[in-house]
Amino acid sequence: MARSAETGSGVSFGTADETELILESLDEFVEQEVEPLADELGETLTNPRLGHEPDGRLTDEVLEAKDEVRRKSAEAGFYAMNMPEAVGGEDVSAVTWYRANKRLATKDVPLASDVLAGPEGPKPLLAQAEGQQVERYLEPAMRGEKTTAFGQTEPGVGSDSPNMETRAEKDGDEWELNGTKQWITNAPYADFIQVFARTTPQEEAGRHGGITCFIVEEDEYEIGTLNNAVGATGVQAEVHLDDVRLPADRVLGSVDNAFYDAMSFLGLGRVEIGATAVGHAEGLLDKATEYANEREAFGEHIGRYQAVSHKIARGRANAMAADTVGLKCAWLLDQGDPAIAESSILKWFATNAFWEIADDVVQLHGANGLAEENLFMDRLHRARIQRIVEGTDEIQLNTIAKQYGVET
Ligand SMILES: Cc1cc2nc3c(=O)[nH]c(=O)nc-3n(C[C@H](O)[C@H](O)[C@H](O)COP(=O)(O)OP(=O)(O)OC[C@H]3O[C@@H](n4cnc5c(N)ncnc54)[C@H](O)[C@@H]3O)c2cc1C
Repeated sequence: MARSAETGSGVSFGTADETELILESLDEFVEQEVEPLADELGETLTNPRLGHEPDGRLTDEVLEAKDEVRRKSAEAGFYAMNMPEAVGGEDVSAVTWYRANKRLATKDVPLASDVLAGPEGPKPLLAQAEGQQVERYLEPAMRGEKTTAFGQTEPGVGSDSPNMETRAEKDGDEWELNGTKQWITNAPYADFIQVFARTTPQEEAGRHGGITCFIVEEDEYEIGTLNNAVGATGVQAEVHLDDVRLPADRVLGSVDNAFYDAMSFLGLGRVEIGATAVGHAEGLLDKATEYANEREAFGEHIGRYQAVSHKIARGRANAMAADTVGLKCAWLLDQGDPAIAESSILKWFATNAFWEIADDVVQLHGANGLAEENLFMDRLHRARIQRIVEGTDEIQLNTIAKQYGVET
């Protein structure tokens, strides 16, 4: 798909016709393919006590529904449309990808989050696949037939990931991996995981060098305890790698370079998080506006009380500011700029705006805000999670300070 006018050199906040068409088609896809499935499963998808096995694992019924949405979305050309055409994507711009992620997040349809590739799907890191990796991993992931995961975090390190303890040692033509990962999204269900391991000591390769990404298949690692987060139950797990022997062609990208590769794709991940945060925030504000205009207390619509209307006004202002940063950030990526400062600003600002808005919208709905059957607490939990994953608030602020010259 050709790059649209909205990614050109001038400033434009209009949506290009091509992007508008994609957004409308996404709306139709959700209405025709996702909503009926979500309706069929009903509360199973929204009630935290349903849809899970006793240990938190998602039930087969839920997994099958997610699988169906993913495959259908891939067939329709949406799922990984941001990936290069050469690997089966549509090569849509980061701006279009941002808008599409945002559009889906505004919807109150539980399975809508499965329409576009998330952590279980193909990302630019996997687009480095070569030789048999293309047919065995990348292509089935693009078609939504296989899912993956990204294994970096460990029990001893999260933010400080270059200090990872997982090691891979060369033994003849093979590699031997040892270590434990945790909080790995989609690990319990993945067909293969992209595991980061240290292959050359920091003293030789430098702090960010010496790390390699390996493709490890599901029968080669053990899943340990599920890392159930409030708001994301049954999705993350520990991964044990004990004397895992891998052929040389399981190295994804080049040996010792994985950390640099991953850093070069960070911007896009943050654009996705920012888009989701803004989309959810706008969806919540729409619901809050409706409620403020209809709920009465002390003989007035509650929207007439400024303590209520200002929550919505402040939320709108923050959501619009976050959206503007999101568009700028995506636009910079489309110009080939890594947008290091901007993507950290987006990740930090949009997720904090989402968090504050979600909290205000819970408050504005009173007890209804807390009710399990409403989505408000679910969104509040999601917002909280987004301030921690893929670089915490503090790590983003460190990056921003450094990018603007503070000697950290
Ligand atoms: C729902 C969920 C899904 C996840 N999915 C994945 C996944 O798919 N793959 C994966 O690899 N990981 C995943 N993670 C892990 C996530 O990336 C880490 O939790 C995150 O990077 C933070 O690491 P940590 O939890 O070890 O916290 P720590 O790094 O131990 O940090 C603890 C606290 O110290 C602060 N801190 C640390 N260093 C500094 C510093 N230099 N300056 C200021 N403050 C600092 C942090 O901001 C934080 O507040 C997931 C986590 C969650 C909750």
